[in-house]
Amino acid sequence: MNKPTDTTMENIISLAKRRGFVYQGSEIYGGLAGTWDYGPLGVTLRNNVKRLWWKMFVEDREDMFGVDAAILMNANVWKASGHVDTFADPLVEDVKTKKRYRADHILEDAGIDPKGLTVSDMDRLIKDKGIKSPDRNPLGEVKQFNMMFKTHIGAAEDEASVSYLRPETAGGIFMNFKNVVDSFHPKLPFGLAQIGKAFRNEIAPGNFIFRLRELEQMEIEYFVKPQTWEKHFEEFRTLMHSWTDMIGLSEARVHELEIADADRAHYSKRTIDFEFDYPFGRKELYGLAYRTDFDLTAHTKASGTDLSYYDEETKERLVPHVIEPSFGVDRTILAILADAYTEDELGGEKRVYLKLSKNIAPVRVAVFPLLKNKPALVEKAREVYSMLRKEMPGVVFDDNGNIGKRYRRQDEIGTPACVTIDFDTLENETVTLRDRDTGQQTRVKITEIVDFL
Ligand code: ATP
Repeated sequence: MNKPTDTTMENIISLAKRRGFVYQGSEIYGGLAGTWDYGPLGVTLRNNVKRLWWKMFVEDREDMFGVDAAILMNANVWKASGHVDTFADPLVEDVKTKKRYRADHILEDAGIDPKGLTVSDMDRLIKDKGIKSPDRNPLGEVKQFNMMFKTHIGAAEDEASVSYLRPETAGGIFMNFKNVVDSFHPKLPFGLAQIGKAFRNEIAPGNFIFRLRELEQMEIEYFVKPQTWEKHFEEFRTLMHSWTDMIGLSEARVHELEIADADRAHYSKRTIDFEFDYPFGRKELYGLAYRTDFDLTAHTKASGTDLSYYDEETKERLVPHVIEPSFGVDRTILAILADAYTEDELGGEKRVYLKLSKNIAPVRVAVFPLLKNKPALVEKAREVYSMLRKEMPGVVFDDNGNIGKRYRRQDEIGTPACVTIDFDTLENETVTLRDRDTGQQTRVKITEIVDFL
């Protein structure tokens, strides 16, 4: 019944805007590159995703602790972590238009694999092969561009007042490792989890909410005994697939990519990227990294505070190693929208609908009176609506337009089920329950709606 469609980004962006999922940031002023705002349905979808993630990775486990650290942090955090020196992308400028590009992306577009190349390799290749900008102009020298957003704390704008908006939430987690150990005395292995905003001054933001300058991450730093890292790495690898399954992403669109030595971040000894087939190609969705003891050791050295761990069982002091699963919230939303967007024909009419999993759909059930101008139907529909609201989140009431229009509207926002109150309801306390994907209608008792859903 569902014809596979080559969903375009235009389709997704247009639906997201039309139906109140995602709007352009600061739109009436012409926007601000790399920023997007979430509208009412987008916020609910995000909250559902974040709540589900928190439940799966924190609340349902005994070995996880949540933190919510400040976005502004002491600049020494990012000096010690290596971000001040190395959190950079290769930048190249069109000498005529002054437009700036990622040199690795320019090489990719020219059919050259940039993996493992240094900045000077890229510079040489661009020169030797005479590679031009997308506007067909010569390109300047390739330079490293640090992606952290720098700011000043307080009134003085000097070196001592420099701070950075965090480029990843991980830093705030490492800052609270000792606090949580001292307060809770957890046994290894255990993890700290955080959901929050991160900021990256991306050279070329784009592809809607794929590459943002203000993004949100859901991250775990899982502390383990060094010799056990492989086992825990594999555990999270499996869990990350369970997660993509739980939010309804098609398994066939999620792929693993083992990152080669030369391409890993400076702190990682093994990384697997989880990639997704977006409409613009296969690109990173999530990352899973083995960060060794890099961070705890670096922060111990730089701060002078001992971040080692005393193991009560073996009576040994050690620096735990870290497995880091990292999930971008915005890329999750984009993957969900891209995967859910479906066009088909129902009852001889074309329709667009979002095949969202009921685990995350912003509206789980919509309640309609068959006719708007029959007070008995409206009253009964309101009664069913109030009853359902007490049982579950995401219940809406809709009496706008005719019933066909209401179905189409709910289909477009991915509502899994619609309940219609008609004249039979008044006689026998049953309603029709319509399934979004098949359009099939089933007659069920009011008292059985919740179980049915
Ligand atoms: P990319 O290679 O695409 O720039 P990355 O490898 O730098 O990504 P990580 O540092 O591993 O990304 O960040 C962890 C996660 O945070 C990513 O898997 C992604 O989901 C999300 N993320 C990173 N950068 C961005 C961004 N600019 N916009 C939206 N999400 C992002």
